[in-house]
Amino acid sequence: VKVLLSGGSGFIAAHIVDVLVDHGFDTVVTVRSEEKGKRILDNHPNVPKEKLSYVIVEDVAKEGAFDEAVKSDPPFDYVLHTASPFHFNVQDPEKDFLNPAINGTTGILKAIKAYAPTVKRVVVTSSFAAIVNPQHPKVYNETFWNPITWEEGLQPSNVYRASKTFAEKAAWEFVEKEKPNFDLATINPPLVFGPIVHYLNSLEAVNTSNARVRDLIQGKYKEKLPATGIFLWVDVRDVALAHVRAIEVPEAGGQRFFVVSGQFSNKQIADVIRETHPELEDKLPPKDSPEDLSPDTYVPDNSKSVKVLGLKYRSLKESISDTVKSLLAVGA
Ligand code: NDP
Repeated sequence: VKVLLSGGSGFIAAHIVDVLVDHGFDTVVTVRSEEKGKRILDNHPNVPKEKLSYVIVEDVAKEGAFDEAVKSDPPFDYVLHTASPFHFNVQDPEKDFLNPAINGTTGILKAIKAYAPTVKRVVVTSSFAAIVNPQHPKVYNETFWNPITWEEGLQPSNVYRASKTFAEKAAWEFVEKEKPNFDLATINPPLVFGPIVHYLNSLEAVNTSNARVRDLIQGKYKEKLPATGIFLWVDVRDVALAHVRAIEVPEAGGQRFFVVSGQFSNKQIADVIRETHPELEDKLPPKDSPEDLSPDTYVPDNSKSVKVLGLKYRSLKESISDTVKSLLAVGA
């Protein structure tokens, strides 16, 4: 059974590759350069060539970007689409975020419909960003949608959330209107922590969602906890497994999954690091820092992902401890 995974060099995708290979899928990843593709293969020396390979898709925003990548012999059975920009360096909201997120998603779906009729299901990595609603209910599940408008989305502080919301909407609309041979599932995680893979990362370029853990162990918040809060999190290995379960479980078709472990606070992260890595104590915020988890923080409901995908979520302690280990291994 053969799977195409877009954005193979990403933080989450690197873990999806491992789950796919482990579950016996023949896996082809898309990457933006030969160099990244080679690095992935070099770091899976025991996986035979026919089980893991790469194709180049330089820019998912370009018209027809996936037209060649989706053609394969033997043909693909499933596609996982993770490639989408996730950073806070906004120069041009449309060019940097909205186009690659939206056109990347519709582009891969169009290419599959036109050139890969054997594909039975596509799983798109969406986000809690496509669920969160400023007039939020206390308890969140996957029935909620971010009501953001295009104009609001053009503001740099909103553009990432807008890009995920519009991309996911476009995917569901495509399937409804075009009635392709495949069905769709989306995975909607909040902030993702967890180990980085050493072969794709440097400390400077650590992926966006782990940046606060790096900053904490480098002493950036020695005086005071970070002011920023998101307060819902999930481990990258659980997110990776969710993607693969979403192709393995027939009932996942047509479903959206809020893949979330629970609430966290910056104080809790610092306390986990203090406990599991006492040698980092002098880099951490003061032990008696006030708890920064607000009582108004959203309450996540992950019951659908547990029931349908069979997920068992890792604890914050395991996730943060393993994140720190992986960051120390690349030189933090
Ligand atoms: P990364 O930045 O590590 O991965 C993003 C991937 O997308 C990279 O492989 C990147 O390639 C690729 N990509 C970005 N823009 C383009 C483009 N224009 N053309 C081709 N490839 C592109 O982030 P994550 O692994 O964290 O994110 C993966 C997915 O998960 C994204 O869809 C993100 O929105 C979603 N997500 C992430 C969360 C998190 O907390 N990490 C939370 C919720 C959702 P390259 O590295 O070569 O630039």
